[in-house]
Amino acid sequence: MNVLKFGGTSVGTVESLKNVRSIVESLPSDTVVVVSALGGLTDKLISTARLAADGEDWSDEIDAIIARHHDIIDQLVRQEKKVETIETVDALLDELRRTYEGVSLIGDLPAKTLNVIVSLGERMSAPIVAGIIKDARLHNSLDFIKTEKWFDKNIADIALTHRLIVKEFSNSEKGPHITGGFISKDRDTGEITNLGRGGSDYTAALIAAAINADILDIWTDVDGFMTADPRIIKDAKVLSSMSFIESMELCTFGAKVIYPPTIYPVFHKNIPIRILNTFNPTATGTLISDSSEAKEYPVKGVTAVRNTCLVRLYGKLTDNVAQINTRAYNALARNGVSVFLLAQPGENEEFSFAIASSDRERASRALNEEFAPELIDGALSSIAFEENLSTIAVVGEGIRHLKGVNARILNTLMRSGIKTLACSEGNSDTTVSFVVQEKDTVEAIKAIHGLFF
Ligand code: ADP
Ligand code: ASP
Ligand code: MG
Repeated sequence: MNVLKFGGTSVGTVESLKNVRSIVESLPSDTVVVVSALGGLTDKLISTARLAADGEDWSDEIDAIIARHHDIIDQLVRQEKKVETIETVDALLDELRRTYEGVSLIGDLPAKTLNVIVSLGERMSAPIVAGIIKDARLHNSLDFIKTEKWFDKNIADIALTHRLIVKEFSNSEKGPHITGGFISKDRDTGEITNLGRGGSDYTAALIAAAINADILDIWTDVDGFMTADPRIIKDAKVLSSMSFIESMELCTFGAKVIYPPTIYPVFHKNIPIRILNTFNPTATGTLISDSSEAKEYPVKGVTAVRNTCLVRLYGKLTDNVAQINTRAYNALARNGVSVFLLAQPGENEEFSFAIASSDRERASRALNEEFAPELIDGALSSIAFEENLSTIAVVGEGIRHLKGVNARILNTLMRSGIKTLACSEGNSDTTVSFVVQEKDTVEAIKAIHGLFF
């Protein structure tokens, strides 16, 4: 049994949807297909909501959204499904219009309302795709993808979701089975939520893990996982394979190919992922599995996370750095802040680590509370936050053991006139990472990619 996921670009136009149709119709009837909203629609739904909240005119936007969906239905939906599909989609378009009217009226865009607005993308694309594919069966992912609150985020309730997926798909008649990605419901309140931008990959992985799929195929608009973002590096190379760990690291550090939480559920079940191109379906793509036999390149890729914030603790901490470190980590974790780079300590006895800029406020509160005694007695002189930075990561299993790898990267950056503000400590065998000014991101990726590929 396979699970396939088609991203927005794959379901964006009449032409690309024809490719989706022929791919799915050539597969066994128990295939599960997860689809995103039409390409670019989620951004459009959000920007239109902001127009409405700001009291601007949004009539052209809603008209274009309606026309786009109607056009695809007219051109592609199977005759016997047409009436039903139009009814379903028109009811949702009507809900969208009424929600925008409400937003306009109150001049405000509460998070709950925005969640309803963005959910409409996948709530419309799924019935449309189901109407296009022969014998397809539609499943409503709001019935089985459930989230719970975690600080200010909604995260999947994995155990409950797993049980509901098994129930949904175990006695299901023949398919192919089509469902929308990304969208979910809060398990306690029943409100519509989502798994985060790019979250359709995660929906597909949760389904694949629950039904013990043989493989998870992620269909997108490039030939596979590449050595760098092809929009930045024109001659980035497609990798034929990589390990789960390598893909996890690359995606956590910014490779947009797969939404990072996606990899865990399938990794635990040892279900391989393939990255495939809807626009070039015969290309072999990239196989992500637990075997790391393919050693075509010792380094698999270079990525960047923008919006990095470097947190530096200054003080006389030489005696108990490990203990202070643990306290800092725990205080941050209790407040839902994750640290993605622990830096080598600088000469002036500081220690530092990188977090996402969006976590800065929470991190500041947590650290100032945790270290209040040290800040008062002077053992810590200050906690500083530096922003407008990027973390550049270089990933490949065993990279840490490549001779002189850190020095080679640092020299390359220096020769390109790029200042390195922090380097990761040697706590990962798979990734070395560096913090640079955000304005240097592209140059840094180009320089390091040139060094290894
Ligand atoms: P989808 O709509 O299919 O989910 P995404 O836009 O989320 O597609 O992800 C695919 C895009 O990720 C590609 O078009 C490519 O521009 C970008 N990308 C970034 N880094 C990489 C990489 N290392 N390898 C391949 N694609 C990458
Ligand atoms: N449509 C959602 C987004 O654009 C989810 C996805 O495409 O994976 O973020
Ligand atoms: Mg995506």
